[in-house]
Order: sequence, then structure tokens, then C-alpha cells
Amino acid sequence: MKQGIHPKYHETTVTCACGSTFESGSVRENLRVEICSSCHPFFTGKQKFIDAGGRVDKFKKKYGI
Ligand SMILES: [Zn+2]
Repeated sequence: MKQGIHPKYHETTVTCACGSTFESGSVRENLRVEICSSCHPFFTGKQKFIDAGGRVDKFKKKYGI
């Protein structure tokens, strides 16, 4: 682990289930998500994933979308 002022928070590559990737800050080196801005129904207009139990809302809050 690198030493630094914020050793637990760094830029990481997030991989979405749709195959796209994007950079985001995270405490983990690699992240896998089920929805991103490329496949999110809010952006695409297509309902590819069912938002059960506010999972999308949690996602949006977590990633600041
Ligand atoms: Zn995606």
C-alpha cells in the first residue's frame, strides 16, 4: 500500500456490467458495478435493469451522479 495523506482513497477504474469503464474515486483499487452512466435507464431511456429497493438511488448517491 502506498503511503500518503489519503492512503485509503484514490482514483480507480470502475468496471460496469455493460463492459464500459470509467474513473472514480474509491477506497478500493477495482470496482465492479451493475449500472453506469452509459447503461443507466436514466441516461439511455432503456430499462435494462430493474431498480428494486432503491438500488439505483444508492448507486447515484455513492457515485455522485
Ligand atoms: Zn454500464
